[in-house]
Amino acid sequence: MFKFLKDLIAPKKCYSCNKEWRFLCEYCLSKMSNFDSTCYVCKWISNNYEIHKKCKNNVYYDKIFILSHYKNKIISKLIKDLKFYSKKDIAEDLWIYLSELFFDNEIYKNTDNYIIIFPPMWFFKKLKRWYNHSEVLAKIISKQINIKLWIWYIKKIKTTRQQSLLSRQERLDNLNNSFKLSNNKIDNIDNKIFIIVDDVISTWSTINEISKVLKKNWAKKIIGLIVASD
Ligand SMILES: [Zn+2]
Ligand SMILES: [Zn+2]
Repeated sequence: MFKFLKDLIAPKKCYSCNKEWRFLCEYCLSKMSNFDSTCYVCKWISNNYEIHKKCKNNVYYDKIFILSHYKNKIISKLIKDLKFYSKKDIAEDLWIYLSELFFDNEIYKNTDNYIIIFPPMWFFKKLKRWYNHSEVLAKIISKQINIKLWIWYIKKIKTTRQQSLLSRQERLDNLNNSFKLSNNKIDNIDNKIFIIVDDVISTWSTINEISKVLKKNWAKKIIGLIVASD
């Protein structure tokens, strides 16, 4: 409790250099081993993080923008504090860097074609943690860059076992066709560009399954906007 109160009144300090300003200052972020513009599937250089055509086998997203590596201790601590200790201020700092990454690598004419979404968190999990950290991040980004946000756009249609306990093949089978779009959204997907905001991406993540459902309903493009990759 005391720690909570202390955090509430203490000024923001960089997790890395202790400078009072943000939880992660620009200088420390630039010193981290960040991702160059590469294709997320093969990790080779590509324009604006675009997934190469040859890498699109069973891959339904088009670009994945990633801020840094999860194995970086500062980044993983920031994400853990955002996730488990309800430090929503961290999301307020991260949006600045995520939106920079977005604007630097996505040339767009009309923001009306864009929709921000986040992977759903299941009711009981949300109840346990009080809030969905990806939702917090997505809401802040949506407000700041003025792109509309969709919530409740997707439903889970079969129970999946916890991904981390499964092998690679089991993970794929476990997620396969496990999502369905809610009926009131289906007609509005045609030609839209979706930005999926999340904290961490892993190779066999739900992002591909969500992208698959959206593409089947004629979404034009899917972009991942992610804090860290494992
Ligand atoms: Zn710093
Ligand atoms: Zn590739």
